[in-house]
Amino acid sequence: MATLGLRPHDSGFPHRHLLGIEGLSADQISFLLDLSESYVALSRSEQKKTDLLRGRTVINLFFESSTRTRTSFELAGKRLGADVINMSVAWSSIKKGETLIDTAMTLNAMHPDVLVVRHPDSGAVKLLSEKVNGAIINAGDGSHEHPTQALLDALTIRRRKGRLAGLTVAICGDILHSRVARSNVHLLSTMGARVRLVAPPTLLPTAIERMGVEVFFDMRKALEGCDIVMMLRLQTERMHGSFVPSIREYFRFYGLDREKLSAAKDDALVMHPGPMNRGVEIDSELADDIDRSLIREQVEMGVAVRMACLDVLTRSLRRNEPPGDST
Ligand code: ASP
Repeated sequence: MATLGLRPHDSGFPHRHLLGIEGLSADQISFLLDLSESYVALSRSEQKKTDLLRGRTVINLFFESSTRTRTSFELAGKRLGADVINMSVAWSSIKKGETLIDTAMTLNAMHPDVLVVRHPDSGAVKLLSEKVNGAIINAGDGSHEHPTQALLDALTIRRRKGRLAGLTVAICGDILHSRVARSNVHLLSTMGARVRLVAPPTLLPTAIERMGVEVFFDMRKALEGCDIVMMLRLQTERMHGSFVPSIREYFRFYGLDREKLSAAKDDALVMHPGPMNRGVEIDSELADDIDRSLIREQVEMGVAVRMACLDVLTRSLRRNEPPGDST
């Protein structure tokens, strides 16, 4: 597998950290997706482990709960032969900045090569990247970005549809609070897909059209002719006040069921980043339908994408070169 080895002057990714999709070029995104493909193959083989990151330390620093993302980063690091440490930090808003910087400095003293960070505040991961020496991967910061989720979504779509350019993708639900939506909008637009957003007005950020997307309030109209329907979780933990009249009402207008999906193309596929609220934003039986739902495949692609990200961000280290630019 040629792409697993070190090829001098071919890092394909000039950045020191992965803080977001915004600012990445189509070539850089394609490079990460192509590299991820080789890790899908490795993960499906009997011997899943390489020693590419032997002697390197990856710390998963999570200020917010996570199952999929944390586990898949852990598995990704271990499959690459790194030592992986998981740290979950209880988050108290009283201690905010102090806790973040203190924790960063403490961990920095342990010389991690990569810090994978999830934090409830948008921008916190970037702040941390300015304080530490290792590479930082944003594993989700508030409602800002979740770059590895968008990459795994893109890999899943590309494998099934053969391309990203020219596809029509509807992202539906709680756009306002979703870092997954933001990262996906950046990625899909950069790669030449058409993005439609559909949500009740209360769950759409103002002036979102400026991101080059089409906005809909009617789910059936939004889904007409779509290739991919990406559902989002209603993020009640980020809601202060009432954003939807009731769960029943929400499902009636914005929950994905077979009837609404019939407006999309006959071969349209359904995605969800998880964790799912079954019966709230997606019909449970549809979520489990292996002919229409890519949800399990998304989880598999998550490990491969995270292996690719750990690989590229440590290439300069492994070659003893100065790190990439500080973005
Ligand atoms: N797991 C995704 C995230 O961390 C989506 C979600 O939580 O709804 O943003």
